[in-house]
Amino acid sequence: MAGFRILPIAHALSEEVRSTLKSPQYGHPAHVETAAGYGPCRACLKQFRTGQEDRILFTYNPFESLDSYPSPGPVFIHAKSCPSYSEPDRFPEELKSLPLTLEAYGENRWIIARERPSADEIENSVERLLQTGGVRYIHIRNTEAGCLIARIERDQDNG
Ligand SMILES: [Zn+2]
Repeated sequence: MAGFRILPIAHALSEEVRSTLKSPQYGHPAHVETAAGYGPCRACLKQFRTGQEDRILFTYNPFESLDSYPSPGPVFIHAKSCPSYSEPDRFPEELKSLPLTLEAYGENRWIIARERPSADEIENSVERLLQTGGVRYIHIRNTEAGCLIARIERDQDNG
């Protein structure tokens, strides 16, 4: 096992959205609403409690600092500050039950491989994609909505 790291959106960026109610990257207004769907929150990587928790919708480019070709899309975070996902070497339990597409990107954000693993195959799928030649990072996307959920990189400590 090469090891991997799950990267939610940056905590500082989430906090900026909460304080300004704008997209930090684009300046577009953010939208606050009671969660009508499960999300998940891109900061803590937990599903929203529908009808009970407030969430913020904002425009996010997940390729910033990775590639000059952006791909802005809508993402949700908890409206109240929440702890960033803190077990990066484990695939988040609350994501496993969702319809997920793993997209493995190489140079120039070219998609080298794409998998739609079942819940019990996810970690194996991540490892396989990270060991595929040319792959630099993986995006976890929701298969139904197409939106970015989180990024996965190789665990540098384990090579
Ligand atoms: Zn959250």
